Amino acid sequence: DTVHAPVVILGTGLAGYGLAKEFRKHDSETPLILITSDDGRSYSKPMLSTGYTRDQDADALAQLDAGGMGRQLKASVWAMTNVNAIDTENQLIKVGDAQTAIHYGKLVLSVGADVIRPPIEGDALEYVYSVNDLLDYDDFRKAVAKNDVKRVCVIGAGLIGCEFTNDLLNGGFEVETVDPLGYCLPTLLPEPAGKAVQRGLEEKGAKFHFGPLVKAVNKAEKGVIVTLDNGQTIAADMVVSGVGVRPRVDLAKQAGIATNRGIVTNRLLETSAANVYALGDCAEVAGHVMVYVAPLMAAARALGKTLAGDATDVVYPAMPVTIKTPACPVVVSPVAPGTEGEWQIQEDGNNVHAEFRNAAGDLLGFALTGEATKDKMTLQKLLPAILD
Ligand code: FAD
Repeated sequence: DTVHAPVVILGTGLAGYGLAKEFRKHDSETPLILITSDDGRSYSKPMLSTGYTRDQDADALAQLDAGGMGRQLKASVWAMTNVNAIDTENQLIKVGDAQTAIHYGKLVLSVGADVIRPPIEGDALEYVYSVNDLLDYDDFRKAVAKNDVKRVCVIGAGLIGCEFTNDLLNGGFEVETVDPLGYCLPTLLPEPAGKAVQRGLEEKGAKFHFGPLVKAVNKAEKGVIVTLDNGQTIAADMVVSGVGVRPRVDLAKQAGIATNRGIVTNRLLETSAANVYALGDCAEVAGHVMVYVAPLMAAARALGKTLAGDATDVVYPAMPVTIKTPACPVVVSPVAPGTEGEWQIQEDGNNVHAEFRNAAGDLLGFALTGEATKDKMTLQKLLPAILD
C-alpha cells in the first residue's frame, strides 16, 4: 500500500540530501531511499571552486560518506547506482542493469545538471577537465599533482570560469582564460561590471582572450597547445572547461515526463507524472531554471512539507548570487534576457554599482562589484520576489 511505500530520492547533491533533511523534520517514519550514481559523499558543491584558495582536496571537502548520511537521515543510501528508467504507471524505477526494480510511493528527481562540453578537436582531450562534482574534483586535483601543472588554460569566463581563474591564481598557477564574448561574466553583468572583474583578475596575473573560441587541444613537447579559432595559441599544462551546465532531463523525458529546458514542475514541485517531483539543477519550477543553491534550498523546504502531507507551494524571494572572485567580489541579481528596462551604472575604479530598472523606475535586478557589494542588502529589499 502507498502509505508505507518508500519515498525515493534520485541524487545526493545539495538538492537530494537537502530535501531528505527537510522531509525528516516532518516525517521520521516513512521509509526513505536515496540513490546516486556517485559515491554518495555529502559536500558543498560551491566549494569546488575555492579548493586551491583554501587548500582542500576532495577528502577535505567531503563531509560525511553515504553510510554516515544514511544513519543521520534514517534512510538507505545506495551509492554507485545508476537509475536507467522510470515506469510512472506502475511506480517503479529500474536500477543498474535494469534487472532490479524498486517500487516508490513518491519519487523525487534531483539529478542535477550536466556540463556542456564545447566541441574541441585534437589529440590531447584527456587534458581537458570539467569539475562538476566531487569525483571530478578528485581526478582534477590528482592530475594537477601528477603532471606537475604550472600553466592552466580555462575555457569560459562565466561564473565557473571566473571562479576557477581566481582560485587557480590563488593557488600559484599561471592562468589564461578564453571566452567568445567580450568580458567577464558576460551573461550576468553589464559591461562595466564585467570589465571591473576582468581588471581585478588581471591585477592578480590572469590573461584573458576575449572573442575567440577554443578550437583544438594538442600535445606539445611539454603539456599542451590550445589553438583558438583566431589562430592564436596558448601553451598550458592542463585545460579546465567551464562553459555552463544543462539540466539532466533525459531520464524524465524517456519516462514520458514533461521536460522543457528542465524537468517541468509546478510550484508544488510536481512533475507531469503522478507522485513524481523534481527540484534542484534539473528542475524547471514554474518556468524558472535556476542552477544555484538558494532556490534549491527554498524548494527543499516546501517539498519536505508536501511529501509529509502538508502541500506547500515553493516561494522564491529575490536571491542574489555571490560570485567567488575575491580579486573583485561580485554580487548579482540577474535580469532575465528580454526584460524591458535599462542599466543605470555608477563606476569608481573596480567598484561598480549597477541597477536595472524598468520605465516605471522599479528595480528588477542589480550588479555590484568591489566595494559596491556592500549595497547588496539595501537593494535586495527593493527587488520583487520571483515566486511569492
Ligand atoms: P548535483 O549536486 O549535481 O547532484 C546530482 C545528483 O544526481 C548526484 O548525486 C548524481 O550522482 C545524481 N544522479 C544524476 N543522474 C543520476 C541517475 N541517472 N541515477 C542516479 N543518480 C543520478 N551555486 C551557488 O548558489 N553559489 C555558488 O557559489 C556556486 N558555486 C558553484 C561552483 C561550482 C564549481 C559549481 C560546479 C557550481 C556552483 N554553484 C553555486 C551551483 C550549485 O553548486 C548547484 O546549483 C547545486 O550544487 C546543484 O545541486 P543538485 O543537487 O541539484 O545537483
